[in-house]
Amino acid sequence: MKMRLHAFEPASRANGPGLRAVAWFQGCTIGCHGCFNPDTHSLVGGYETEVGALVAEILATPGIEGVSLSGGEPFQQPDALAELVARLRETPFSILVFSGYTMESIRKLPRGPEVLAHIDVLVAGPYVESRHLGSGLLGSSNQRLHLLTTRYRPGDFAPLPTAEVILHRDGSMTVSGFRRLSGYYSC
Ligand code: SF4
Repeated sequence: MKMRLHAFEPASRANGPGLRAVAWFQGCTIGCHGCFNPDTHSLVGGYETEVGALVAEILATPGIEGVSLSGGEPFQQPDALAELVARLRETPFSILVFSGYTMESIRKLPRGPEVLAHIDVLVAGPYVESRHLGSGLLGSSNQRLHLLTTRYRPGDFAPLPTAEVILHRDGSMTVSGFRRLSGYYSC
């Protein structure tokens, strides 16, 4: 199954509890004013890969407790997202998904209920610049943190860093989180 990604970071601490691999999906038509991730909007940007290749990359990453899927909008690649979370559910990793759609909307999206049945945490809702929050994984105060399994409690999300800078061995850098610097952000 092909999918289009914006970026992959094997080890992040600002996109959910513990050390996590993060995959930013490419493509989003929701159009939140003030979006932190405009480079992820194009439906033809980023790069194409296979769900199986991403799963293999995640499995090869040592020491992570979970995987976070962000964007872009993961639910705008419903078949790839559904296959990815089903395969990740067979691993010990926790699964967290960021979406610009509300929970109510996701329940009506193609494959939405199926994805919800396979993940532990959903951070849901569009980013609203006038309600900027930038803490506890919420970009703005209208967004909601949904705990869909018993794996985490609300207190697990309070101490997370709001931004991080990751230096890679090849000299490249990933900036991530919920406070504007520059780089990849979760919406
Ligand atoms: S904040 Fe998220 S949902 Fe909103 S436009 Fe940006 S990528 Fe899309």
